[in-house]
Amino acid sequence: MKEHLLKILIIGDGNVGKSSFVHRYVSGQFNITYKMTVGVDFSFKTLHWSDKEKVRVQLWDVAGQERFVSMTRVYYKGAVGCVLMFDVTDTSSFLKCHQWKQDLDSKATLPNGSSIPCILLANKSDLSDWAVPADHIESFCKAHGFVTWMATSVKDNKNIDKAMRRLVEEILSI
Ligand code: GDP
Repeated sequence: MKEHLLKILIIGDGNVGKSSFVHRYVSGQFNITYKMTVGVDFSFKTLHWSDKEKVRVQLWDVAGQERFVSMTRVYYKGAVGCVLMFDVTDTSSFLKCHQWKQDLDSKATLPNGSSIPCILLANKSDLSDWAVPADHIESFCKAHGFVTWMATSVKDNKNIDKAMRRLVEEILSI
């Protein structure tokens, strides 16, 4: 059995749902009062990928340090994939994705120098007051070299596992 250990970062503005995402993905729960402690924190999830392969996903959450926007290199070190999340009801969290992606690409690179795979997640898609049109997300996604984008709802457990599987697939294909 081959085991891959993948360090995956989760970045994006505060309050978009990052901690809830990690908690949902790892424990299967959504708890509105749940909040991780401030500081970089990480959680594990093991995926039985195939008969011959096991994947241990190590998710790193910035947990409350988003205000710095520019994260330290230590946080990015050794990362092989990234989830960039924004809140579909909050335009500014979408506009900030540009900066987040630039910061990521300048600090986290694969040994061959190319940028690490990153998936763009439009979270809180269960809410009716979307402020960011899907075609804007689509063109931003294409222009900035994301693996893909998906509308997620951590609350309704929509596309959480699917998004992570897509990202892991991309990482393993490199
Ligand atoms: P973080 O600061 O990015 O880690 O965001 P949190 O995980 O703390 O979530 C911020 C708030 O958004 C909390 O009140 C969550 O309960 C709520 N939230 C997270 N994901 C969703 C979602 O998919 N839909 C809705 N409606 N609320 C969500």
